[in-house]
Amino acid sequence: MSKLNDRQREAVLYIDGPILVLAGAGSGKTSVITRKMAYLIEKCGMPARHIAAVTFTNKAAREMKERVSQLVKGKESRGLTVSTFHNLGMNILRSEYKALQYKSGFSIFDSQDAQTLIRDLLMQDHGAESDNADRIQHRISQWKNEFITPEQAIASAEGPADILCSQAYLRYQNALKAYNALDFDDLIMLPALLFNQQPAILEKWQQKIRYMLVDEYQDTNGSQYHLVKQLVGNRGGLTVVGDDDQSIYAWRGAKPENLSLLGKDYPHLKVVKLEQNYRSTARILKAANTVIANNPHELNKALWSELGHGEHIRVIRCRNDDAECERVVTEILDHKLRTRGRFGNYAVLYRGNHQSRLLELKLQVHQIPYKLSGGTSFFARNEIKDIMAYLRLIINPGDDNAFLRIVNVPRRKIGTSTLENLGRYATEREISMYDACDEMGLSQHLPETAVKRLREFTGWLNNLRRKCYDDEPVASVRQLVSDIDYLDWLIQNSSSVAIAERRMANVHTLINSLEKSIKDDESDNAIEGAISRLVLRDLMERQEDEKESDDQVQLMTLHAAKGLEFPHVFMIGLEEGILPHQNSIDDGMIEEERRLCYVGITRAQRTLTMSYCAKRKSFGEFTSCEPSRFLAELPQEDLEWEGRGDSDPAQNQKRGGETLASLRDILG
Ligand code: ATP
Ligand code: MG
Repeated sequence: MSKLNDRQREAVLYIDGPILVLAGAGSGKTSVITRKMAYLIEKCGMPARHIAAVTFTNKAAREMKERVSQLVKGKESRGLTVSTFHNLGMNILRSEYKALQYKSGFSIFDSQDAQTLIRDLLMQDHGAESDNADRIQHRISQWKNEFITPEQAIASAEGPADILCSQAYLRYQNALKAYNALDFDDLIMLPALLFNQQPAILEKWQQKIRYMLVDEYQDTNGSQYHLVKQLVGNRGGLTVVGDDDQSIYAWRGAKPENLSLLGKDYPHLKVVKLEQNYRSTARILKAANTVIANNPHELNKALWSELGHGEHIRVIRCRNDDAECERVVTEILDHKLRTRGRFGNYAVLYRGNHQSRLLELKLQVHQIPYKLSGGTSFFARNEIKDIMAYLRLIINPGDDNAFLRIVNVPRRKIGTSTLENLGRYATEREISMYDACDEMGLSQHLPETAVKRLREFTGWLNNLRRKCYDDEPVASVRQLVSDIDYLDWLIQNSSSVAIAERRMANVHTLINSLEKSIKDDESDNAIEGAISRLVLRDLMERQEDEKESDDQVQLMTLHAAKGLEFPHVFMIGLEEGILPHQNSIDDGMIEEERRLCYVGITRAQRTLTMSYCAKRKSFGEFTSCEPSRFLAELPQEDLEWEGRGDSDPAQNQKRGGETLASLRDILG
């Protein structure tokens, strides 16, 4: 307990009821959570398996787990749950699927699978290709995040568009069940629903999870809120930490109001505020405080730091985006050389994933090691998608999307019209395409050769499935890859043999990771758990790179940087239309963008450099850019401008001020 300040210690030691730690960035909220887990295990004698901590990203969960295992010696931290909300939900569903009338080995649909299904349903119902699928999918996701069932959506829908959506929602949910599949949002919504409907099951889980800790609570949505509330129940074993100024997921249904709801749900809620920041220099902190002060506040959090003034914050104007990335990369090289630091000390943060491409190129040219978080993930690669589809089909023959993906990988001469007929046959009988292959009646609808080819395929895969479940799952998956001569397929479909071999190496990485996951799983049917976890990781677009070195420049979006910290931070693209994002400007959602900017600034420990471009290439043409209004909101006395030449800071500040004033006019 020595390294904690008084308020932090108070938060850690308080276990008499629910407690909320509401505090600004870098004040040690996450540290309170990790310390508290250690305290519960070591000092209160609570078995680790009764404690669950949830956070938002896999990366954050991994970091938290590491921190706890450093604090708790020996095997005492075994069985501790430190996971994302989605992982927690999946674990619940993996043991309770029967109560929801699901079968074991259910599939988890990604957004693309879900959209295909919605399109198919619209086609069946309205007989025409619909361009509404996108909007309907979004609406359904919104409902799920708000913990609204199809029946409730139908009852409360108003206006033809919403009525259509709500009906599609019901159809979609029924179809998912028929496929033995669920989508990403269901991982949270379904456990919460189940707990509502079946108190006995809830009680079982309340017995298991006796203490809950939630990080980044400001970003919970309606379903997550319910899930936490149900699990906590009357026992009140709950520690929640959050910062309303860092709420950046409203677009995905997050409700920062959940923070104030806590006070209503738990009248005796204890609230602790932390004010000392241990992360950043005073200048960086002042910059963050000054920017966020432009948002309306219920409660002011006066953060202070003892880490000295620190260097000025640099703002660099660049000719264009190419020059910007080049500049950032040479800055990193130069700084690293002068300070003899490590590449791992640098992070470059940006608003949108597309901004990383140019940066990656420049880093490659200068041979700088880097790690891109998010972006095109390992699982987005075609070879991984193929093998994953095989795995999905092995644990769930009802997964038509997986079936369609690989039925002709490698080529099995099963034509489109065969698949169409098979699909129709399966739909009429409400069975999956895979199961339909083995139906006697199919022969009347398809030529004999087609039926034979389909059955050869299912016969072979059934055989492998049995082996997978019976003895050696990993060996069977390796056999699968060799049976289909996947390397040969890759060679035929890659531009060179070298590339094909690299893609094959990815497949081996996947299988190794499956093997490891099976070893870690103590349950029966470890293969199902292992594959579900892989699918989930895929969905969360995280590449779990086991050999990840810590000496790489970190590239990530501002959203992905939440909760993390780096000695030297670069924020690029500080321009109107980028940060703040054009959509947010159009929709008057500047406050959320400002919070995003606040999150970015507060990631920095020692130096912060911001950059913007005079011109930027879009669709092959250069267009001029305007510096972000957030630059004008920074405390100008703490900035060091560079490359601006023609325009002086005061002028620019005025311009920024004008932008702001006119914005206020628009917003009324
Ligand atoms: P964010 O809002 O960005 O998630 P946070 O409030 O969760 O930040 P932490 O990440 O827990 O903050 O802590 C920020 C840094 O301060 C970490 O490096 C942590 O180790 C350090 N720290 C926290 N508390 C103390 C303390 N009492 N003494 C020294 N260092 C501390
Ligand atoms: Mg934190």
